[in-house]
Amino acid sequence: MKRDFAALSAERHDLLVLGGGVYGAWIALDAARRGLSVALIEQSDWGAGTSSASSKLIHGGLRYLQYMQFGLVRKSLKERRRLAHLGPHRVWPLRFLLPVYRGARVGRLRLGLGLKIYDLLAGTGSPVARSRSLGRAALLERYDYLQEQDLRGGFVYGDCGTDDARLVLEVVAGALQAEAVAVNHARATELLRHGGKVQGARVRDQLSGAECEVQARLVVNAAGPWAAGLLPPKLGRKLHLRLIHGSHLVMPALPQEDAFLLDADDGRVFFLIPWYGRTLVGTTESDFQGDPATATVPASDVEYLLRNVRRRLPGLEWSESDVCGRYAGLRTLRAESGASASELSREWSLEEPERRLLHPVGGKLTSAREDAAKVVDRVVRRLGLAQRDCATDETPMPWCPPGNFAEWLNTVIQRAVGLGVEEGTAMVLARRYGSTVDLVLQRIAAHPQLSAPIVAGLPFVRAELEHAREHEMACTEDDVLRRRIPLRILHPHALDLDSDLDSD
Ligand SMILES: Cc1cc2nc3c(=O)[nH]c(=O)nc-3n(C[C@H](O)[C@H](O)[C@H](O)COP(=O)(O)OP(=O)(O)OC[C@H]3O[C@@H](n4cnc5c(N)ncnc54)[C@H](O)[C@@H]3O)c2cc1C
Repeated sequence: MKRDFAALSAERHDLLVLGGGVYGAWIALDAARRGLSVALIEQSDWGAGTSSASSKLIHGGLRYLQYMQFGLVRKSLKERRRLAHLGPHRVWPLRFLLPVYRGARVGRLRLGLGLKIYDLLAGTGSPVARSRSLGRAALLERYDYLQEQDLRGGFVYGDCGTDDARLVLEVVAGALQAEAVAVNHARATELLRHGGKVQGARVRDQLSGAECEVQARLVVNAAGPWAAGLLPPKLGRKLHLRLIHGSHLVMPALPQEDAFLLDADDGRVFFLIPWYGRTLVGTTESDFQGDPATATVPASDVEYLLRNVRRRLPGLEWSESDVCGRYAGLRTLRAESGASASELSREWSLEEPERRLLHPVGGKLTSAREDAAKVVDRVVRRLGLAQRDCATDETPMPWCPPGNFAEWLNTVIQRAVGLGVEEGTAMVLARRYGSTVDLVLQRIAAHPQLSAPIVAGLPFVRAELEHAREHEMACTEDDVLRRRIPLRILHPHALDLDSDLDSD
């Protein structure tokens, strides 16, 4: 993945995409594969906005069933199946436990019915097992840290997990392979207009300070929570957007590899999700105003999440001193009068606030690929090009390993273990890098000391640090240590990259 700022202004592009989150990445990949000349810019790093601050689930969104959003759930479940099929290295099944307590807002009968509908909407070829109920005794026997009082039994169901930042990175890598120009740390400072039409953007290289004008026949503003700020204030207000803030805590590993969906004391639900040897706990939901870059985790969110984990999983005895890390992100949703943050629809829509400017609103990590295809359909129509079919719905993900996935995984694990990588880490390595894992393994073969963990107890090896800089367009320490390798999220005391590499 080569960064080439000069290439942005070397030609007039068909399409300029502003924002390298999951939406911008899929739009660029699909458009480039359909033969358009595409430029994609990201003010910070790939996935640095909301797309690396999610719950990291590729899911239908079981809870949306209570708001009767069947269409949204069906669409997301279809995408869950597709992504697990096109990228089995990137999207993996998770087993969720859903304990049911007396007095919960949604009772056992309704939950059972909801899960049946969830299974039905998932259709055939689902990557996860169907849901089933579990008795109180069976639950307590296996999960002895659960709150016993008022427990009525529960359910097991399946959804999928991912690494959101690496998902975005892989899609950007695919766009580059398809000959898009994709540059991180390049910020659109203003839109260029000519004859009443948007015609590109002025762009600043955040690393060198250089500036250029990027000309394009059409611009997609996929800048997520920042997107309205690129428009004249009057047009921005017309979009009626609401920013919803969500926090996650990173906690120690659970005794089992299972995820939980739990009810909170205010009637909301929240997740515990195993992730790279730790547990993500989230999310919260509250309105946000101000500069999106300043979104942090407030003390009240830490207290809320810990209080609710302690309420339902008291045997874990987690307190604030167990918190390993924390992160916050912002959803951009369409404002609906009277709706609370939880009730706002996650439905996605496409706006055209100005001529030759498209503006996606809302959506999910899970459904971004399909939404992006609709954006590119519109781009093709607006540019008066002959219809070209979506180019991401059947083609494997850019780093999808060839052949049978289980056999490939097994072979990679054996090879990595043979090179001195611990077995659990070898599995993680294979999933994180997909077909590009060969480059990491070759590095280890040449320098065996690079098979050692970067931080004891976390499944990342030292060879990944250099790989990120050389092959994955990581330009800053945060690019390497937060998104290529999520150490700054998972590890309480982030290490200093330079001194770490010096000691190699
Ligand atoms: C707490 C939380 C949990 C979530 N969990 C899930 C989940 O588990 N599963 C799921 O499916 N969805 C989930 N979502 C939703 C999902 O994360 C978002 O829908 C998705 O990440 C939005 O992607 P995006 O590309 O629109 O925005 P972003 O990821 O925010 O991308 C926009 C990008 O534009 C860049 N940018 C901004 N201004 C400029 C500029 N001037 N020039 C260049 N670049 C610019 C930003 O730096 C940013 O990287 C969650 C959301 C939140 C907030």
